[in-house]
Amino acid sequence: MDQKRYAVASKESLIRVFTVPEAPDSTLSKIESEISSNLAGFLNENIAAVEKPLHEIEKDFQSAVIPEEPTFVSAYAQDIMEQLVAHSVHTAAPSFIGHMTSALPHFVLPLSKLMVGLNQNLVKIETSKAFTPLERQVLGMMHHLAYGEDGSFYSKWMHSAKTSLGAFCSGGTVANITALWIARNRLLKADGSFKGIATQGLIAGMLHYGYKGLAVLVSERGHYSLGKTVDLLGIGRDNIIAVATNNDNKVDVQAMRKKAYELQTQGIKVMAIVGVAGTTETGNIDPLLEMANLSKELGCHFHVDAAWGGATLLSQTHRHLLAGIERADSITIDAHKQMYVPMGAGIVLFKDPAATDAIEHHAEYILRKGSKDLGSHTLEGSRPGMAMLVHACLRVIGRKGYEMLIDKGIDKARYFASLIKSDDDFELISEPELCLLTYRYVPKQIKAQIAAADDDTKIDIYASLNRFTASMQKRQREAGRSFVSRTRLTPAQYDHQPTVVFRVVLANPLTSEDILKDILAEQKELAKTDPVFKKYLSKYMR
Ligand SMILES: *Cc1c(COP(=O)(O)O)cnc(C)c1O
Repeated sequence: MDQKRYAVASKESLIRVFTVPEAPDSTLSKIESEISSNLAGFLNENIAAVEKPLHEIEKDFQSAVIPEEPTFVSAYAQDIMEQLVAHSVHTAAPSFIGHMTSALPHFVLPLSKLMVGLNQNLVKIETSKAFTPLERQVLGMMHHLAYGEDGSFYSKWMHSAKTSLGAFCSGGTVANITALWIARNRLLKADGSFKGIATQGLIAGMLHYGYKGLAVLVSERGHYSLGKTVDLLGIGRDNIIAVATNNDNKVDVQAMRKKAYELQTQGIKVMAIVGVAGTTETGNIDPLLEMANLSKELGCHFHVDAAWGGATLLSQTHRHLLAGIERADSITIDAHKQMYVPMGAGIVLFKDPAATDAIEHHAEYILRKGSKDLGSHTLEGSRPGMAMLVHACLRVIGRKGYEMLIDKGIDKARYFASLIKSDDDFELISEPELCLLTYRYVPKQIKAQIAAADDDTKIDIYASLNRFTASMQKRQREAGRSFVSRTRLTPAQYDHQPTVVFRVVLANPLTSEDILKDILAEQKELAKTDPVFKKYLSKYMR
């Protein structure tokens, strides 16, 4: 590297780094003004359209040695523009419809900068002051959205030192862990001589209550974060029981009930059942009302993982799809998914304000008893003021604004589904219930071959279609014009065999109907030159 790019480590230069901003015409100041005035333009211009292979990118990130000498900010800014920004993913592009996160409203950029500048730590009031009541208000608003308690409930609990109505965290994973942590501690609570799991541990708890094991039941479409959760909580991955779904990707509650009773006769206590409100792969919502009844019947915790779909509650048009969620003991919602907040904004809500007693933690120098410190009820310690950005979006976009965004997304998904269905060479795999659907490219000749094929031929075509779908998805991504994601389902129309499908999420308000048409047209073109198709499927094109 060019030696001139190294600055000199000195007391003066370090003080400068903390006090003197970059000159207005410096590289970093230019970047700053561009992202503030035109983020979409900046991203379009500076993220390379065509993918560079990861092993090439890795060459720029080889040294494991911390640089001895400082670097000038301008030189550093230049480097990251070329090595990092250029090869990041354009998640905000309206033709990138495979991600759960999409475009951000422009006001969150300067507000994020303000948040970073203030550098508050929400673990305690001493380091966050007004941010704590703000966060408690946001939790109150989200709680009201889901549970709809009356005004006196919120005036009693929202700012209460005794409790909190929920917890902010980095995302849906930590939200799910927190919810089931509470469920576990409430189940194995203090009783007689037993001082509770939090004090005496899991083994003492199991011996005291006489359980051979604990189990969590969730649909086979449950999110993988639940696997991490049961591992961490000492329940074990074998004891997260995946229950079959119906053909519409909703859990079969009767099968869940049957499984629960089977476990109970083996001495295994069902600790919780988890309903998914917006599955990650197909966007479907479990029958929450039926599940609420089942949890009552079993006397277990009812958690709803609405990390992705929870924002639907903001739409009067569609919130009925989540009916029953108000009976959940806890709910996970990711503001960084369908609420258009930047990454790092997970929320877990508790129906019972006393729920967090089960995980309350105090320390002498911090989180003193009787304080309103949020850190006594959270898994995480130091936490940024992300609640400010959720607060901003709720205020600036408003409930009605969100309703329009949610409704538009669902309309768009229905439109895309109609495009797919009206084209003989595509096949809709899962109907959109929210703004998420899955499909694949299957030329009509191949559909006809499948209909007439014997079992062996079918298996061969299915396997080839899977490889072909994966190949198409990769080639489309590499071409850089558009992006759909892919997943593997077991749909009835493919005899419940593993089936690779394209998956799209239509949450970006800038995605137009024309863009959707272009994406299908591009896929038709890509199919013509696909090497996997040529090798394994062209023989069936009769
Ligand atoms: C995204 C998601 C999660 C995990 O959330 P993170 O924010 O990625 O930790 C959990 N459950 C569902 C249903 C999700 O869609």
